[in-house]
Amino acid sequence: MKTAKRPWERWRPAVWAVYSDMHSRVNPIEVMAAELAKLPGIGRKSAQRLAYHIVSMPKEDVHRLSEALWEGRQTIRFCDVCGNYTQDDLCPVCADDSRDKSIICVVREPRDVAAMERIHDYRGLYHVLHGVLSPLDNIGPNDIHIRELLTRLASGEVEEVIIATNPDIEGEATASYLARLIKPMEVRVTRIAHGVPVGSDLEYADEVTLSKALEGRREI
Ligand SMILES: [Zn+2]
Repeated sequence: MKTAKRPWERWRPAVWAVYSDMHSRVNPIEVMAAELAKLPGIGRKSAQRLAYHIVSMPKEDVHRLSEALWEGRQTIRFCDVCGNYTQDDLCPVCADDSRDKSIICVVREPRDVAAMERIHDYRGLYHVLHGVLSPLDNIGPNDIHIRELLTRLASGEVEEVIIATNPDIEGEATASYLARLIKPMEVRVTRIAHGVPVGSDLEYADEVTLSKALEGRREI
């Protein structure tokens, strides 16, 4: 026997439609969390915590944060000479006439320049490779700024190149590759000492370790 639909049964499709519409609409907090989770070191849970925190912040603060991110991204570019981050044609190091132009310290990323600068021991210039050789990731010599380094060395002004790539497999491979290329140019090639823990990031080395690593650099 067929029973008549009860009122709630008749209503169900409509209620369901509203319900599913409510849930298929993109939740802005989820969108924020998804974007934040793309940042290095931010897992899904941290991203969600940050997103919830941001929506609870005063609107002016959130505006200031987003402006700072956007402005920073818009104004920062690469130094014409060394590849470090800068707002002008030259980075503050390259623009500083008191720096020793006979030494170039080769690093992987602009943030490594900042790490080296924190120790205040080093008065030479830098060259940022923007990566290291990594056959597994298909990163070869033409994908990082090696040619630019060789062009700088061709001026004859540079007497020493200190290779300060991280002490991991790629960093070491890059160091030996560079040494092979640079030595015939009659430039001294040194490698920072392994006071920096093997497999670690230069950026996270404390100032004393980094200072010792620089002091104990050896010829390669
Ligand atoms: Zn520079």
